[in-house]
Amino acid sequence: MKSSDLFSRAKTLMPGGVSSPVRAIKPYPFYVERAAGSRLTTVDGVDLIDCCLGYGPLILGHAHPEIREAIERQLAKGWLYGTPTPLELDLAGMLVDDHPAIEMVRFVSSGSEATMAAIRLARGYTGRQDIVKVEGGFHGAHDAVLVKAGSGATTLGVPDSAGVLPDLVAHTRQVPYNDPEALEDLLSKNDDIAAFILEPIMGNVGPVLPDDGYLAAVREITAAHDVLLILDEVITGYRVGIGGAEVLYGVKPDLATFGKIIGGGLPIGAFGGRREIMELVAPAGPVYQAGTFSGNPASLAAGYATLRHLHEHPEIYRRLDEATRAIGEVATDAHRGSFVRIGSLFKHFFRGEPPRNYREVKECDTEAFSRFWRAMLDAGIFLPPSQFETNFLSAAHTKEDIEQIADAYGSCLFA
Ligand code: PLP
Repeated sequence: MKSSDLFSRAKTLMPGGVSSPVRAIKPYPFYVERAAGSRLTTVDGVDLIDCCLGYGPLILGHAHPEIREAIERQLAKGWLYGTPTPLELDLAGMLVDDHPAIEMVRFVSSGSEATMAAIRLARGYTGRQDIVKVEGGFHGAHDAVLVKAGSGATTLGVPDSAGVLPDLVAHTRQVPYNDPEALEDLLSKNDDIAAFILEPIMGNVGPVLPDDGYLAAVREITAAHDVLLILDEVITGYRVGIGGAEVLYGVKPDLATFGKIIGGGLPIGAFGGRREIMELVAPAGPVYQAGTFSGNPASLAAGYATLRHLHEHPEIYRRLDEATRAIGEVATDAHRGSFVRIGSLFKHFFRGEPPRNYREVKECDTEAFSRFWRAMLDAGIFLPPSQFETNFLSAAHTKEDIEQIADAYGSCLFA
């Protein structure tokens, strides 16, 4: 069956025809038959270079032989025990070794679960009720963080989704990214704030990069007010390097959340941080958290194999950085908007200057983006289908793939 026929049927079976909203590409999404390396093959027989990579987890590309072997080895031994497994220690040990601020971790099954639990833990530890997030920051699809970028740092949260209780999101405050003064102002006027949660690099409207000194200022301000700093490293973890943004920018959070790459492409999440805080998590302490699939052996096996491969081949990060630089040289020449990149994250914003926060991101010309996106797809390149989602590269993208992406950028931006 072709993609258009599959989608017609899907719409009768699933809301919007999809399992997650961003997949509902208009007029219909393409359906994937299989994937290998840097390529997706659709059921319509089209080969695409993939710069979406499952929205980030697949830093080694699709169906990497080492990861596949690790998963298959685990599958042969069973894939769910409901007991601890030795694999947990491998992955937990690696996360702790790679992140100076992380002394203990708890595995969950998604990034959303990780941020939900980290926020609960911050409230349990501090005994305070409110949290602060960044306007436009994304931490998953649970109620406390589904808050629209609002009208200013100190305004009360507004529900972003029907069904979210206004009373609940009233406890979610917001500040603009790259604005330490707004954070200082908010924290100095409110003594009921448990934590500030932020993506160190805004990845769900971006990448929007931190100004020099922003993350250090955030650390200083939160510490001065005894507010916990939660770094959401679900995208940046092992994406911007081993140790994620914590190591790249030298910022020490109290808690951090992980997902995506640490599961090698299978579902996973984790949160971790200072021992004194983590020891409040059940059964060691009173903050409840649990999950049937937490520490799933197949995810742990895929994640550990991925992280081990990255440790053994650190040159991957340099190569990916060079690759986005090469694409950026073409895109910058095109003089239509602004190209932003860091490591293997990149994006062309249809706005003159690189945005520094969510309000500036929203100034982008989304119609120009849509035309560009469609032209790129026609040229055989699959980019995430939104001006507000980051593009990714993997170690499986070859020199020829990068040249093809750069050529397509050149011709599609000029078109
Ligand atoms: N935090 C960040 C920074 C994310 O980018 C995402 C997902 O894209 C999440 C949390 C939620 O993760 P998941 O989709 O695994 O629930």
